[in-house]
Amino acid sequence: MYLIFFFFFQELHAHLSGSISDETILKLLGTKDASLSEDIIEEMKSILKMKDKRSLEECFKIFSLLHTLTNSISNIKTCTYDVIKEFSEDNVWYLELRSTPKNVIGSYTKEDYIKAVLETVKLLMIISIKAVLKTKCNSLYIHREAEKSFGIIVRILISIDRSRGVEDAWDTLKIVKELRNNVVYKKYIRGIDVSGNPSKESLLEYLPILREVREMELKLAVHLLELCESVAFEEAAEIFSEGLVDRIGHGTFLNQKLSGETSNLVNVVLERKIPLEICITSNIKCGTVKDLASHHVNWWKNKDHPIAICTDDKGVFSTTLSDEICLYCKAVDGDIQDVMDMISTSIEASFLDENEKQDLKQRIFNYMKNVVDEAT
Ligand SMILES: [Zn+2]
Repeated sequence: MYLIFFFFFQELHAHLSGSISDETILKLLGTKDASLSEDIIEEMKSILKMKDKRSLEECFKIFSLLHTLTNSISNIKTCTYDVIKEFSEDNVWYLELRSTPKNVIGSYTKEDYIKAVLETVKLLMIISIKAVLKTKCNSLYIHREAEKSFGIIVRILISIDRSRGVEDAWDTLKIVKELRNNVVYKKYIRGIDVSGNPSKESLLEYLPILREVREMELKLAVHLLELCESVAFEEAAEIFSEGLVDRIGHGTFLNQKLSGETSNLVNVVLERKIPLEICITSNIKCGTVKDLASHHVNWWKNKDHPIAICTDDKGVFSTTLSDEICLYCKAVDGDIQDVMDMISTSIEASFLDENEKQDLKQRIFNYMKNVVDEAT
């Protein structure tokens, strides 16, 4: 199983702010933009030292600190750059990074926020393009070659936070629509994510927005069934009935019985093979799943259903994608073949174009075949 450390992966469910590492937080704590009291800085340092032993309450403290630390454009760029670099160092070849744009009065607008993220992705590509130009010059394929040389392909999902209300979501969508008039931004923005506190607003209120996302030909990933409550099943039923979702975030209680009745939603998901984004550590830390042994990943794996193992918030929950894949192997008692199958299904579940998927698959499997051949 040690071989998985030589494999390359895809990360499909990573929130930018929750993915910010301890190292980046420590770097930003000392900047003038942070403007935090000495007491808060000391408290945060001691929480960061707890690593994966942090309580849920301590994780929430980090979340609220991150809100303060991302109050300037320069810090957003630093965070985006560091998160992409760290995923790349963790053998991630394809990353879908999601983030909720916000307005900070006197500092930046939602549009500035999204542009800061996109410009950072673009900057990484420019660095790579320069590297490619030094070796060969073929303008038609330069962008593709640049992504290959940097070792990571990044696409962005813009998040809609359901706890902020429908007006805020329409505003975000309007900005996304305008930004996609720029061909480079259009290439990077692949979809919309719907996230946020599941107990706040009903997702049914957001149906017109989800329909509009479809009209814009963007992909949709929606956090669904994070709670075992009838309202969560009703929301999912409506979204499935209109075929509005391309991937399900968590789906923690999707395969569970509600009030003694078996939900037929699970049959819809199985029949349509709607992929699930599975984030094991996040589920256990947040208490929606008791432990690894009772995690729903095993149930879906036994149904041969497409799943993608993801981190959710690697920084806050102190995990890595490699760690999550090890946990997956433990949960399903899996072997190398199971990991390779999961990698293959998660490429299929990605929001890349068909030819990009085939290209990525070929690169990864050629590489992994060499690793396995050399080791056996
Ligand atoms: Zn999430």
